[in-house]
Amino acid sequence: MVSRVIPVDPFDLVIFGGTGDLARRKILPGLFRRFLAGQMLPESQIIGAARSDFDDEGYRDTVREAIGEFGGADAARTVELEDFLKRVRYVAIDAKGEDGWKALAALVDQKRINAFYFSVAPSLFGDLAERLHLHAIANKDSRIVVEKPFGRDLKSAKELNAVLARHFDETQIYRIDHYLGKETVQNLMAVRFGNILFEPLWNSQYVDHIEITVAETVGVGGRGEYYNKSGAMRDMVQNHLMQLLCLIAMEPPSRFDPDAVRDEKLKVIRALEPVNLHHIVRGQYDKTPSEPSFREDAGDPKTRTESFVALKCHISNWRWAGTPFYLRTGKKLRTRTSEIAVVFKDAPHLIFGQEAGRHRNILSIRLQPNEGMTLGVTIKEPGPGGMRLIDVPLDMAFADALGDEIEDVPDAYERLIMDVIRGNQTLFMRGDEVEAAWAWTDPIIQGWEDRHDVPKPYDVGSSGPEDAGMMMHRDGRRWRELRE
Ligand code: NAD
Repeated sequence: MVSRVIPVDPFDLVIFGGTGDLARRKILPGLFRRFLAGQMLPESQIIGAARSDFDDEGYRDTVREAIGEFGGADAARTVELEDFLKRVRYVAIDAKGEDGWKALAALVDQKRINAFYFSVAPSLFGDLAERLHLHAIANKDSRIVVEKPFGRDLKSAKELNAVLARHFDETQIYRIDHYLGKETVQNLMAVRFGNILFEPLWNSQYVDHIEITVAETVGVGGRGEYYNKSGAMRDMVQNHLMQLLCLIAMEPPSRFDPDAVRDEKLKVIRALEPVNLHHIVRGQYDKTPSEPSFREDAGDPKTRTESFVALKCHISNWRWAGTPFYLRTGKKLRTRTSEIAVVFKDAPHLIFGQEAGRHRNILSIRLQPNEGMTLGVTIKEPGPGGMRLIDVPLDMAFADALGDEIEDVPDAYERLIMDVIRGNQTLFMRGDEVEAAWAWTDPIIQGWEDRHDVPKPYDVGSSGPEDAGMMMHRDGRRWRELRE
């Protein structure tokens, strides 16, 4: 198979926070993979910038180590790794002071694409933006990349947007939600808008309900203190689940360009009805004989922060009025799985009689593990005898369909960084989208705080609190099983 990798123009990428966890685990190994694939050209330069006092060689050692730890099989490509490391430089810098900025200015090549990854705490965004401007390191074509969390409520998100807008135009700001970089998420758009098959059925007349699940088996571990100030609603629902909801529910954009797509996503968020607090269940994982509870992980025996949320919401527009969307996410659940399930309505009239049973088409879009899609269709059970029906999956696991090529599919971070260099904002959140998402989330969180809501405990390895099941049960529905 001929490689379809299209190299991006040579670039300078500055990673503020280049010694941090995210840079070590995702950004640097991802860049190495793009280098191996030939997408990052050797003329490009990566500049780590953080507080630690390294020289270039010292930083290269930490990058080598990070790729050894997180780069998987690529780490064995030692010749190429040394070649990659020649493209890596380092500047010790203080975001809040003047140290290092002149040295950085001398390194960044103004004549080509330059991007600045703010892989640091959001409290430093303003300082970085200010100093990049002050030292004339960034120009009107520079890009800046910012990570979640983008604020903790509408007010703080607005403040962050304002801080960035002081020196950068919206077209220069890339707010990462790595869920949008996943292959399946883009395939979701390809399936919806590249085929005629699904779109006529994609509405409340044919869709009974939609479930979006992001389940994790891990707890909050070492991030307990941070997570305790955030919770599942802020950490997962406001960003990842909302983004998936937008892509599944949006109207077809007129073109696949950044603003056309993001305009449609924004309309979905704005059409979301406020959620009735009776349609939300919050949970907290309990302790087991061998593992700590959420309260212990958070180091706060009285914490009321949730590690699980399940909710039902409605989109008030012509397409979706009457079709509920059920969202669920949590930690320490039975399996690690992210799935969107579009559950279609029953056939209007059962010609095969009651004994044939009730069957439904379900389109399942899996983000992890085993990215792919499955369409459940009803067929006749093979063999003699009456007309008995069974459901079988039409399965499109990308790994099977694309064979060896799947090896070359970049992971979400790699793809998104390459999009930054190409200047394509389609898969990044716009400032107004983020604000609209907080405007919908804030009253929910405020409602819990006002009534001192206490999350329901749930067992580690379960599907979450029983109340989440009850919420569905009251609607005559059941959550899809959490499966690998
Ligand atoms: P980290 O604490 O591991 O690293 C922080 C980095 O910032 C370090 O390199 C440090 O040297 C640098 N830094 C701190 N103060 C500085 C200053 N005054 N001047 C210059 N550099 C300074 O953090 P992390 O986990 O890598 O996360 C970075 C950002 O990415 C955070 O906003 C975080 O919320 C976000 N994020 C991280 C992950 C993840 O998996 N780690 C996932 C999603 C989002």
